[in-house]
Amino acid sequence: MSIYEKYEAVIGLEVHAQLSTNTKIFCGCSNKFGSQPNSNVCPVCLGMPGVLPVLNKQVVEYAIRMGLATNCSITTKSIFARKNYFYPDLPKGYQISQYEEPICQYGYADIELGNGSSKRIGVTRIHMEEDAGKSIHDAGNETLVDVNRCGTPLLEIVSEPDMRSAEEASKYLISIWQTVKYLGICDGNMEEGSLRCDANVSVRLKGETKLGTKAELKNMNSFRNVERAIEYEIKRQIDLIEEGGAVIQQTLLWNADKNIAAPMRSKEEAHDYRYFPDPDLVPVIVNKEWIASVEKHLPELPVIRRKRFIEAFKLPPYDAEVLTQEKELADYFESSLNGLSKKNEENYKFVSNWVMTDVLRVVNDEKLSITDFPVSPAHLSGMVNAIADGTISGKIAKDVFAEMLKTKEHPQTIIERKGLVQISDTGTIEKEIDSILSKFPNEISRYRGGEAKLMGFFVGETMKVMKGKGNPKVINELLVKKLKS
Ligand code: ADP
Ligand code: ZN
Ligand code: MG
Repeated sequence: MSIYEKYEAVIGLEVHAQLSTNTKIFCGCSNKFGSQPNSNVCPVCLGMPGVLPVLNKQVVEYAIRMGLATNCSITTKSIFARKNYFYPDLPKGYQISQYEEPICQYGYADIELGNGSSKRIGVTRIHMEEDAGKSIHDAGNETLVDVNRCGTPLLEIVSEPDMRSAEEASKYLISIWQTVKYLGICDGNMEEGSLRCDANVSVRLKGETKLGTKAELKNMNSFRNVERAIEYEIKRQIDLIEEGGAVIQQTLLWNADKNIAAPMRSKEEAHDYRYFPDPDLVPVIVNKEWIASVEKHLPELPVIRRKRFIEAFKLPPYDAEVLTQEKELADYFESSLNGLSKKNEENYKFVSNWVMTDVLRVVNDEKLSITDFPVSPAHLSGMVNAIADGTISGKIAKDVFAEMLKTKEHPQTIIERKGLVQISDTGTIEKEIDSILSKFPNEISRYRGGEAKLMGFFVGETMKVMKGKGNPKVINELLVKKLKS
């Protein structure tokens, strides 16, 4: 048994989601990303003396949405608290957050593991808070401060230490990412920092029930980096313990270029936040009616939609997972199904194949959003209908699809304009087959002598002279009949 197998990892994640509200959490400043530095500011978000914060109702609504989506109970009277610390990008000298009475608590998210089973990850709490500004350190010898981000609304989603591997942590993070995007409360962009994840990692001997000392990893800006940082840290801690050392509680910054996590300077870590209830803000009261109305308007969430795709459309779990990754993609797929003709209406898997291969390939290669995809769901199903009713072959469909991408035309228009209608007329096909067969007497006798795979050759030759337009099923049937000695 390798030393690594003696241990088990314990991981808990703290995820920050920047909410996509129009305005900031306690003032009317714009919450737009990428504005001119220090332009979206006012006395409230700069913390001038004598000003008063006013809570943005939309933030509470978004928090309730997330709480319900992660099966939390919603706190009817929650409190804002001041978290005090000094930093140049925090002009007020404190961050308004929630401490003792967060808006959501005691929830969970289910993740699906590879073997078809699922695992429940506890969501300890979700609280509302404001973001700090941004210090920009890479401007030569100077540090620049952009305070536009001060007062940007955040949800902090804290998990229980329930994950046991980097893979589980990554699956949980993906599920949070999908959920905020389905709910329309955060754009989920990890590179731009709209979704940030701190990972708490400890290890212990298998069978041990006490938690080990944890280290906190920060600064991972992609799913991949979160996974790599956690793997790195698990190994580091086990190696350390095996060498007789002990893990110390500290914050480590992930360096994606070097593939290592390095400790933050310890000074930056000495925290005593002196939390206390913010005297400028009244408690947030959420009544049952409000919760009920938010619940009524929740979209179908990814886990549920995945199940429905499997059951209603008999899709393999893999297809369901790929298709529900993004709400817009799942919508695209379902709209395409709506356009299927009556006798073709159960061709779910066929449509799924087209979306997963041809559509997604272009979306990924061209970095398109599915909502801007040149082939509309109606056009995609029009093309699938044309294949199903024998108007075009699957092979010609690839050409039609390529043309739809270029011209955005209806498939029928393209099929007519380019004369792509499949030829199924037996008389026409028979004539072509006869002339082909007359050219290959040797192949015919080899075929009759038992080389069955030559059938593919005859089909291919017939297709070639028919410029791909022959109906492959009819060609096959006729060839079988004619080649039977
Ligand atoms: P802190 O007081 O350092 O913020 P918390 O108890 O609030 O720690 O937990 C922060 C996060 O760390 C949570 O997601 C929690 O699940 C996780 N966590 C706590 N203890 C451990 C541990 N020993 N190992 C791994 N993760 C942990
Ligand atoms: Zn402001
Ligand atoms: Mg904590």
